Amino acid sequence: MQSEGGNPPGADSAVGALLRALAFAADKHRDQRRKGAGAPPFINHAIEVAALLNRVARVEDPITLQAAVLHDTLEDTDVTFAELVHEFGSPVAQVVREVSDENGLSRSERKRRQIEAAPHLSERAGLVRIADKIANVRAITFGPPIDWSLERRLDYLHWTKQVVGGCRGYNDPLDALYDESLQEGLRIVTLEAAGK
Ligand code: ZN
Repeated sequence: MQSEGGNPPGADSAVGALLRALAFAADKHRDQRRKGAGAPPFINHAIEVAALLNRVARVEDPITLQAAVLHDTLEDTDVTFAELVHEFGSPVAQVVREVSDENGLSRSERKRRQIEAAPHLSERAGLVRIADKIANVRAITFGPPIDWSLERRLDYLHWTKQVVGGCRGYNDPLDALYDESLQEGLRIVTLEAAGK
């Protein structure tokens, strides 16, 4: 079936491009699991970030959605920037690079740099960044890594607010969901800390 204005054989439709990014990310993250409760497959996180952008922020832009699916491949797998450019084009690769921490830095330095970089992110990268933080805030609230203390969880939640503060303003529903998720997280973790 060839729809009007359909893509020629071999070219990506928006959906095709997204599925290709998903298959790529699933393969690269294939041996990784998230640290949280139940150790879900890592790719679940990438899917959650893209799905939040589509469902909450109404993002249809294929570049943003592909970048969302791929957002942790540079940082957490052996994928290179050149490989992303080759496979998905420069705009997608750039967004992924914008939201990737530099390897080899201490955790505190990486966190400091994310705060510093947030106001300079492109709109696409800012959206991916906030959706990523929503997913992480929820994970730290409801299924944290077992070795994380309550204090570390609270520190993490407060830190995300500093990052998101620098790159919010592109999408009201997404910003609102972040605020809601953070409030819920702070409430639940604080109650746990009080032993309730
Ligand atoms: Zn992520």
